[in-house]
Amino acid sequence: MNTCTNKQWKERGDKVFIGTYARYPAAMVKGAGCRLTDADGKEYLDFLAGIAVCALGHCHPRVTEAIHRQAGELVHVSNLYYTEPQIRLGELLTGNSFGEKIFLANSGAEANEAAIKLARIYSGEGRYQVISLSGSFHGRTLATVAATGQPKFHKGFEPLPEGFLHAPFGDLGALAAMISSKTCAILCEPLQGEGGVRPLDREYIQGIRKLCDQNQLLLIFDEIQTGLGRTGTLFAYEQLAVTPDILTMAKALGNGLPIGAMMTRADIAAAFTPGAHASTFGGNPVASAAAVAVLEVMLADGFLPEVQRKGAYFRDQLTFLAERFPIIIGSVRGMGLLLGAVLTEQGATHGPTIVTKMFERGFLMNFAGNVALRFVPPLIVSTEEIDALVSALGEVLAEL
Ligand SMILES: *Cc1c(COP(=O)(O)O)cnc(C)c1O
Repeated sequence: MNTCTNKQWKERGDKVFIGTYARYPAAMVKGAGCRLTDADGKEYLDFLAGIAVCALGHCHPRVTEAIHRQAGELVHVSNLYYTEPQIRLGELLTGNSFGEKIFLANSGAEANEAAIKLARIYSGEGRYQVISLSGSFHGRTLATVAATGQPKFHKGFEPLPEGFLHAPFGDLGALAAMISSKTCAILCEPLQGEGGVRPLDREYIQGIRKLCDQNQLLLIFDEIQTGLGRTGTLFAYEQLAVTPDILTMAKALGNGLPIGAMMTRADIAAAFTPGAHASTFGGNPVASAAAVAVLEVMLADGFLPEVQRKGAYFRDQLTFLAERFPIIIGSVRGMGLLLGAVLTEQGATHGPTIVTKMFERGFLMNFAGNVALRFVPPLIVSTEEIDALVSALGEVLAEL
């Protein structure tokens, strides 16, 4: 039960939290579908979904039921024993992708850590370098922050772990020139989410695959944001005619419960033997039960085509807005329901203001990579809810 106002929660929170986040002045107390309610009773339409996490919306009944049921059966036993939810999750993931084996973790960064460690141990001594792309985002642990191709995330934390190189985005020749006998893998997102909703075009990503094949490198796709229905297919790689060797996922996997996974082929997975890598909580039965429910909903007939249909509709509406406000919005890009309105140079100075004004009007979204207004609504969003957001955004842009 909520006992304080937004203002009181903010005061109490600011007193105890380390200041790693610039939070909005609202304490959220309840969520259902695409709607959130704060401590003052104000309602929001959520086009951020806990940063692309609550893909089935807040408190989806199937997920809530799975969590309740599992919490009453078994919450944790460690990975020294088998549990049903983990096994069912592994069967669903490998049965619907290129993957044959999974390792379960608690977050995206941990899934990427597992991928990096697997790539190194599989490739053998002396082959440890991982090349990622500028503008990428791979997490906040020391290794994943080193893999992240944005200097602003490195500042103050040097020296970073060795063995991470960044190739300029979009330049296949420069990437090829960085490959050496020390390289073990190329790590990239099929579409850079945090970096500003920036897709890699098909030729580029197919070229990266070819470079991996020619040089016996592993191709690691970070699908932590693009995976699990977000782009209109279970994984984004399905639309690019490129299959990775290792794939990481997290965010939407548990619809809000912390869980991540690293998935690969059996021949690569064999490089991890008992004791080589581990996680105490990874694939916790409750989080795994939630993930099983998520996959069952997403894989049901009609769910993913509906994401594609609504993604195309939303994209059209944003494109109309871009045509109305060419001084502010330069272009619209993305896949499925991972969409960005790329602001012009002049528009970008208003990015944070636009997000704040939308927040005041009761719409949650964010400004990614200082270039694009990012929209990652729950995949169950309705066209009416999309219309409501676009109409409010139109009013905010008109005010500028
Ligand atoms: C969010 C994200 C991560 C980090 O995930 P955490 O769960 O915050 O550790 C890594 N890569 C991509 C592409 C992401 O979007």
